[in-house]
Amino acid sequence: MIMDPVPCPKCGSTLDAITAVSADDPPQAGDATVCFQCAATLIFEAAGGLRLPTDEEAAVLWREPEIARVKAAIIRGARARGRDLK
Ligand SMILES: [Zn+2]
Repeated sequence: MIMDPVPCPKCGSTLDAITAVSADDPPQAGDATVCFQCAATLIFEAAGGLRLPTDEEAAVLWREPEIARVKAAIIRGARARGRDLK
């Protein structure tokens, strides 16, 4: 799904597309996503941007299997291309 370009608040990469893992609905404020460049967990804002999760949100999202699976795939892909994510 194409979206208006927004910067990743962690790495600054421009994010302009998303792939839903559990539903094909447009993301809502508070939904989580993962940056495909740096594997940061991000939260959609009501105004259309992305932000880093609060400590409380991060503690919950850290245990989400789909988030962990996507982050691991991004990190494996980066390593396969010779990049090491921080
Ligand atoms: Zn990023």
